[in-house]
Amino acid sequence: MALSGGMDSTSLLLRLLKEGNEVYCISYEYGQKHRIEIDRSVLNIKYLRSENFNVVHQIVDLEGAMSIFNSSLLNEGYDVPEGHYEEEQMKSTVVPNRNAIFSSILYGYALSLAVKHETNVKIALGVHSGDHAIYPDCRPQFYKALEHAFQIGNWDSEKVSFELPYIDGDKESILLDALNSCEKLGVDFDTIFSNTNTSYNPDSEGRSSGKSGADIERILAFKAIGRIDPVEYTEPWEVVLSNAVKVEMIHKDQYYREKLTELQYMVTRQGGTERAFTGIYDKESREGIYRCICCEHILFTSLNKYDSGCGWPAFHSESEGAEIIRIQDNSMGMSRIEVRCSKCDAHLGHVFQDGPRSYGGERYCINSASLDFEEESL
Ligand SMILES: [Zn+2]
Repeated sequence: MALSGGMDSTSLLLRLLKEGNEVYCISYEYGQKHRIEIDRSVLNIKYLRSENFNVVHQIVDLEGAMSIFNSSLLNEGYDVPEGHYEEEQMKSTVVPNRNAIFSSILYGYALSLAVKHETNVKIALGVHSGDHAIYPDCRPQFYKALEHAFQIGNWDSEKVSFELPYIDGDKESILLDALNSCEKLGVDFDTIFSNTNTSYNPDSEGRSSGKSGADIERILAFKAIGRIDPVEYTEPWEVVLSNAVKVEMIHKDQYYREKLTELQYMVTRQGGTERAFTGIYDKESREGIYRCICCEHILFTSLNKYDSGCGWPAFHSESEGAEIIRIQDNSMGMSRIEVRCSKCDAHLGHVFQDGPRSYGGERYCINSASLDFEEESL
C-alpha cells in the first residue's frame, strides 16, 4: 500500500492489519511542501511496531524526477490555496500524473513480492469519493484502466490486483472505519491520528493551519464523528473547528444561492414564509412524494397530506424516516414549533395542534417553496 501519512492511508493501514494481512508500505518523497507527512508515517510505523504489528515500510525518493513538475503542492513561491475542497482553485494542488507514477512503482514492488514469495499480492489504496472531483487520478475508472494496462504489460500479472476499499466512502466513513480498526487491534486512535498530516501548508514545526481545503475536510470529519482531532494545529481546536464550519457554511450558502429561486432561498435558508394561498403545492392532490427542495431528502408523501384550508400544504404526519427536526420558535410574539429538514437544516414551516384527530391531531404547515413534488403511484 501507499502510505502518504495522511488520514486516509493511515486508516487503510489499520484496516489491512485488522484483516490480518502482511503489510508492505511505500511512502513517497516527491518534493511535497508537506513533507512532514513522511515523518509522521515513520512515527506511526514505529508506534505500531511497539504494539507488535510488524509492517515493512520503504521511503521512495522521487524528488529529483518530480521537481520538474508544476503544482502548488510542490513549487516554492506558489501558495497552496485556502478554502473549501471542492472549489475550482483547489485544482492547483493537483500534481500531474502523480497517482499513475505512484501506482507504477507500487505495481512493480507488488509484482516483485508476488514472484519472490510465490503468492498473490493486493495493492491497497486509500482513495475516496471526495477526491474524485478535483483529482481525476483518484477515480475508479482510472484505476481500472491502469490495472488493465499493467496486466497487459507484465508477466505474472494475475498475481497482483488493486483494492480500493474506500472508493465510495468519504472522510467521515473512513474515520469510523479507523476507529473500529483501532478498537479491534487494541491500539490508540488519538496516538495514531496525532501522527498524521493532512495539511498542504503546515508551518515550519509541522503544525497544520487548519485552512487548506484538505484541512477543512478533515476537521469536519472529526466533528462528524464527535471527536477532537488530536493533530497539532497552529490555533486551538475550537478556533480551527469554528473556521472550518464557517467555510463550509459559506460554501453551502453559495451552492444554495445558485440552486434555489429567490423565494425558495428566502424560505428554506432564511426561515421565511410564502404568502398564504400562493404556493404551488397548496392544492396539490396527485399521488407522489415530497422531497426537501435543498437536499432531496424525502419528507412527506401524498398519503400524509390533507386539505386543511389554511393556505399552505398541510400534512398530518411525516414520511417514515424523514426525522423532521422540531425547534421551539418564539419569534413574531408567538410560541410555535418550527420544523426543519434533518439532512440539511432547511426551514420547512411549523407544526400546529389543530390537525385531524384520527392521525394524532397534528398539522404540519409547510411552505410549498421548501418542497419538490414527484408524481408517483403509491
Ligand atoms: Zn433538506
